[in-house]
Amino acid sequence: KENRIYNFNAGPAALPLPVLEEIKDSFLNFNGSGMSITEVSHRSKWFDDVINDAIARTKRLLKLNDKFQVLFFQGGASTQFCMIPMNFLKQGQSADYVNTGTWSTKAIKEAQIQGKSVNVVASSEDKNFSYIPKDIPFNSDAVYTHITSNNTIKGTQWANFPDTKGVPLIADMSSDIMCRAFDPNPFGLIYAGAQKNIGPAGVCMVIIREDMLEMVPDSLPSMLKYTTFSAKNSMYNTPPCFAIYTIQLVMKWLEETIGGLDKMEEINRKKAGDLYSFMDSGEFYRATAEPDSRSLMNVTFRLPSEELEQAFVQKALENGFGGLKGHRSVGGCRASIYNATTPDAIESLVDFMKTFEKENG
Ligand code: PMP
Repeated sequence: KENRIYNFNAGPAALPLPVLEEIKDSFLNFNGSGMSITEVSHRSKWFDDVINDAIARTKRLLKLNDKFQVLFFQGGASTQFCMIPMNFLKQGQSADYVNTGTWSTKAIKEAQIQGKSVNVVASSEDKNFSYIPKDIPFNSDAVYTHITSNNTIKGTQWANFPDTKGVPLIADMSSDIMCRAFDPNPFGLIYAGAQKNIGPAGVCMVIIREDMLEMVPDSLPSMLKYTTFSAKNSMYNTPPCFAIYTIQLVMKWLEETIGGLDKMEEINRKKAGDLYSFMDSGEFYRATAEPDSRSLMNVTFRLPSEELEQAFVQKALENGFGGLKGHRSVGGCRASIYNATTPDAIESLVDFMKTFEKENG
C-alpha cells in the first residue's frame, strides 16, 4: 500500500499503519482546532486531552494501580541511564545491575562516572551476551536492581523477570515495552525510548512507583528530577507534543484494534515462533541467541558467511524488505519485529528467506 516496504528497522521502527493514517487525516486540522497537533499550545485543552488519554490508556494496558505515574521525558532512554543513579543512589548506598549487552553496559557506565556504587551482580559477556543470566546473587540491601528487559542488539530478552525479594526493579524496556503482559508491581521504575515499539523518536516514557519519588534529592537540577515531571504532569517545560500524540494513538490501537497486551503477546509469540522455527529447521540461517533467551522483538541471525549476509541484506532490500542488517557493532543480520510488524510481513520474509537459500545455499 502506497509503496510501503516491509520495515524491519530496529528503531526508529515501523508504526501501525492505522496510526499513520490517523495522523495523516487529522494533520492539518486537529480535532476541530483549525491547527495541526504540532501547532497547538501544550497549555491547551486539546493537548491536555491527548496526554491524559495517553496516560490513561497506558495504565489500563499495563494494569498499573494508583501508585504508578506515567511520565514523559526528552533525552531518550540514554538520559535515564544517568538520571536513575542521580535520583535514587546516595553516598553509602549501592545498586545492583545485570549486564546483558551494550545498553546495560552504558547504563552501568553512567552510574559509575557519577562515582555511584554499582554491583554488577551478573553478566553474560562471557558468551558474547547471547543469553540472560540465571540464579543471580542479588543483594538484599541494594536500593534498586537494574535490568535491560530486551537487548536490541544481541537479540535476547528476559523470559521471566527476576525475584529481587522486595528490592525495586528498574527496567530499560525501550525495545519491548507493550510487547507482552507482565506483573508491574515489583517495578519501581520502567523506562522506554518510544522509537521502537510505541511511537516516534523524541520522547521517553517513564513509569514510576510513587515511593521512588520520596528518594529524589531536592538539590538536583529541575530538568533532571523525577519529582519535577511528576508535579507538573510532564509539562514543567514544553513536552514533545507530537511524539506524545503518536503514543496516544498507538495505545488506542493496542486497546481497540489489537485488544490488549495478552492478545498482542499471542500475536508476537506466533510471529517470533514462526521465524525462529523456520531458521531452526535448516542449517543455512542460524539464530545467535540461546533458545531460552531469544527475543520476541529482535531476531538476530547469521548466514554461512559475511559475503552471503551482505548479499542477503541487499537482495532483501531489492525485494522490499528493509532494515535486516545487524547492528554495526556485531554484524550479521537482524529482523526487528515489533508490535507493528504484521504476521503477513513475517510470512513474506520467511518466503523470501527460503528463496534466497535455494538460490545461494
Ligand atoms: N536501551 C535500549 C534497549 C535501546 O535499544 C536503545 C536504543 N537503541 C537505548 C537504550 C538508547 O535509546 P535512546 O537512543 O532513546 O537514548
